Amino acid sequence: MTQETTMDDIIAFAKRKGFVFQGSEIYGGAAGLYDFGPNGVELLNNIKASWWQANVREKENYYGLDSAMFKDPRVWEASGHVGGFSDPLAECRECNTRIRVDKELEKIGVSADEKMNEADINALFVEHAQEIACPKCGGHNFTPARAFNLLVKSNLGDFTSKGDSPVYLPGEACQGIYLNYKNIVDSMHPKVPFGIGQIGKAFRNEISPRNFLFRTREFEQADTQFFVRPHENKEAFEKIKKDRWQWYLSLGITEKHLRWKQHENLVFYASDAWDIEYDFPTYGFDEVEGIHDRTDYDLTQHMKFSGTDLSYNDNGEKFIPWILETSMGLGRVFLAVLSECYSKDELGGEERIVLKLPYALAPTKVAVFPLLKNKPELQEKARSVYAELKKYIPAVAWDDNGNIGKRYRRQDEVGTLYCVTIDFDTLEDDTVTVRHRDTGEQERVMISKLGDVVGE
Ligand SMILES: [Zn+2]
Repeated sequence: MTQETTMDDIIAFAKRKGFVFQGSEIYGGAAGLYDFGPNGVELLNNIKASWWQANVREKENYYGLDSAMFKDPRVWEASGHVGGFSDPLAECRECNTRIRVDKELEKIGVSADEKMNEADINALFVEHAQEIACPKCGGHNFTPARAFNLLVKSNLGDFTSKGDSPVYLPGEACQGIYLNYKNIVDSMHPKVPFGIGQIGKAFRNEISPRNFLFRTREFEQADTQFFVRPHENKEAFEKIKKDRWQWYLSLGITEKHLRWKQHENLVFYASDAWDIEYDFPTYGFDEVEGIHDRTDYDLTQHMKFSGTDLSYNDNGEKFIPWILETSMGLGRVFLAVLSECYSKDELGGEERIVLKLPYALAPTKVAVFPLLKNKPELQEKARSVYAELKKYIPAVAWDDNGNIGKRYRRQDEVGTLYCVTIDFDTLEDDTVTVRHRDTGEQERVMISKLGDVVGE
């Protein structure tokens, strides 16, 4: 990130280079929905792979999971989402624009406590209604503020046909972990403490989605739940915090762009809660991940609502494990990585945009160029180098379009670490030119040694 980079730069760049597109754009665009393009899906998958590696595979006592998005509707009653997962909403009576009342109050310096009930928020809203203007028509004539549930309703045969509660898309991904806690205990026989990790989608009826990938209606979360003995939470919590911080550094994020924020108002069952915040261009510091000490609340709730015993039996000693949770928004981390690595510098007297992604995250690691497009002998040699590299390096690109300088700039912009050029000397001595993304330096390398230079 360079000093003057704005989020508008990042958004325009993300679209232009095939990272992120507005959802349903040809129909005019859908608010709060985004599609990941060819480079975006590679970067996103690489972030997920890095997370999975660090949080599931590298840990001895963590288990992976991929649970169904649709769940018995009672899950969302047990979790508190049906009753309490809402934002205060009012509608402009002139033009039907919906506003988030708490956010509008915040803008005029009035803070609405998260725990306030509908009536209290409405009282505050009525008191200040004349200071709040409709963002569309500028009017002050609003409906009363009411609690608007954020769960996205759907229908699914078995549940809907019973005629009771509707079925929901997941409001958060982690519930699937609680539902499978017992299955994992019974099938894998883990010893407490142990963890379960999952990446999954979540949906929220955000009244006013905003800030690009930051607050969207459909998003992906990467969660871990670590199960510990009651009251044996403190030390493990500190260890988890440390590990999660390190993971961000491993992505190439500089420490000055990260900070901790401890929650002041804890939900009643929580014992401690921290956010990791990233310093986004334009938006400033905001949450990318929450780390929560949740005591035995989740398993106790699901025991109550399901009637299934979820206690852990350790040689006759029974207890309900306490849970330490890490919950990361993948879209937010994607945006943090893109912001962090997007930079402008000068190389050989020319300004360029370069995406300084670490090797593991780059959508393309190496690009192979024949010097000239219309020379069959160069094409053939370059094709053989390309095919050889593809055998052991993930994501090798082919580019024979335009002059070499243009190709370098194109690859720099999407973060390709090495460009390999096959020229007439290659035909004589089997060497190629390897050009390094960050420095622009070039070196001559034997084809047989190429893997050592451009591998990870
Ligand atoms: Zn209006």
